[in-house]
Amino acid sequence: MGLVPTMGALHEGHLALVREARRHADFVMCSIFVNPTQFGPNEDFARYPRDLEGDVAKLDGASVVFAPDVAAMYPPGDETRVRVGALAEHLCGPHRPGHFEGVATVVTKLFAIAGPCTAVFGKKDYQQLAILRRIALDLFLAVRVVGYPIVREADGLAMSSRNAYLKPDERQRALSLSRGLSAAARAFAAGERKAGVLRALALAEVEPAASSIDYVTVAHADALTPFEGDADVGARAVLAIACRIGTTRLIDNVVLGEDGPIG
Ligand code: AMP
Repeated sequence: MGLVPTMGALHEGHLALVREARRHADFVMCSIFVNPTQFGPNEDFARYPRDLEGDVAKLDGASVVFAPDVAAMYPPGDETRVRVGALAEHLCGPHRPGHFEGVATVVTKLFAIAGPCTAVFGKKDYQQLAILRRIALDLFLAVRVVGYPIVREADGLAMSSRNAYLKPDERQRALSLSRGLSAAARAFAAGERKAGVLRALALAEVEPAASSIDYVTVAHADALTPFEGDADVGARAVLAIACRIGTTRLIDNVVLGEDGPIG
């Protein structure tokens, strides 16, 4: 059994996860569920793009689609939540209170529904992947969690359902994320190890383009704890960005020492 949880509005990134799941399993379930518990009160739950018919057509019979409604996933009386520990304390955690608890809860429900399986998640949501790996271990779940590389547009923009919100000028400004990550990845490849220098290279691209910045952080690749100041990042570290271009919140990352420069 393969499992690919999504919120729909499927793009090539999602389809790549389904293909990856097919490599591990004969039978793949792709879930499509815009999960209300992972959205904050001022976030885009109501206007999140929904296109079930289009999504089913894109999946092209490659898998079974599981598209429950909210009442099926959270029936009357539902009150149990999966609380995440230290992995949710940095990066997106402080900026999206309750987000990872919502993700952890819904994905744990999906794991329970799927039964023993290989579940594939994108490295685009790097922190989410780390948290879900932890949950599978901590709760002794019969789930193998597999991470899949970020799928990008030809110009470097990480694919995202939220890219549909971007106006043409914002779509151009959104390239600052991958450009910033790439600049830092090139410096890392050339031997730079100072967290502050790597971060500044990314910030130099993102700052002029973003409407607001949640974070540009170099963090330990597994524990996700940020490197402060000019600390040496060692052989492997994640550089992650979250910012708004216009009103659209975008995230992107690169694993220094693992991923090369983008493009
Ligand atoms: P979402 O529908 O945005 O919740 O994403 C569903 C799954 O697709 C998650 O595991 C994401 O990390 C993954 N995903 C979304 N965009 C990409 C991308 N550009 N490349 C790889 N995986 C992605």
